[in-house]
Amino acid sequence: MPLFPEARCAVALGWDCEMIGAYADTNPTGTTHGHLDDRVLQTMLDLAGLAEQAGARLQFFILGQTLEGPVDVLRDLAGRGHALDQHTHSHLSLLSGDAAAVKREVGETSRLFEQTLGFRPMGLRGPGGYRDGLEGREDVQAMASAAGLRFVSTHYATKSPTGKYDVVADKNAYMMMKHMQPRAYPNGLLEIPMSGYSDRHWFDNQGRGLAGWIRHLQDCLDFVYDMGGLLYAPALHPDTHSRHDPGLATLPAVVEHVRKKHDPVRFVTYREVAQAALGAPEPS
Ligand SMILES: [Zn+2]
Repeated sequence: MPLFPEARCAVALGWDCEMIGAYADTNPTGTTHGHLDDRVLQTMLDLAGLAEQAGARLQFFILGQTLEGPVDVLRDLAGRGHALDQHTHSHLSLLSGDAAAVKREVGETSRLFEQTLGFRPMGLRGPGGYRDGLEGREDVQAMASAAGLRFVSTHYATKSPTGKYDVVADKNAYMMMKHMQPRAYPNGLLEIPMSGYSDRHWFDNQGRGLAGWIRHLQDCLDFVYDMGGLLYAPALHPDTHSRHDPGLATLPAVVEHVRKKHDPVRFVTYREVAQAALGAPEPS
């Protein structure tokens, strides 16, 4: 049974809001963190505006560090109906060897959400993404559920053996979406995998260009549309888009591609995916 039976397929655009450590010009420490500069904050607002023009809402994943500074932009985004969930406090991998630190960061970030934004996160994007998601990590699954989270997004498996441009890997990226669909771990925690290539992987690791990136998103969309009933949920970053797509052409190109389809395609947030999959109410 598809999650959104009234639509041919669904698209969830999830943006990880952080200063990326690999960009030495704005991040000399080399460590990814949440003290967002004006460029990244403005990109988040611009993306939200573009989505709203299409009647769509976006999903943003926010670090606890960001909530320790001014939160006007985040309040604004939440007030306009975009979904905000968490990404740990300091971008700590959920598979880090220090389980106590992971638990502390997740708990502290949820507390900061409630204190500064007035609601608790429903989900968590796992920093870095993991080849097998949280398979075999029942301890992390249990930690997330005990923290009150209903979904995670941690499964990122789209890598070619060489990490370079590879047509076979591109085909695999589409095919894998069929298998990388939302699914619950045994304890009921929902996994919403990251589909296709992330922008970081495409632009920064593989050194590929914007026209190909837009085509990749459109190809992924075509795949989920043709298969029917699937979700396309790529992992995206405002920091990366403002560098490689400064005119923010990607989002309108996706919207336009959807508009040309015969059957309805629904833009959803990860929260809406979780509500559809779990029947879970939003936390207040
Ligand atoms: Zn991240």
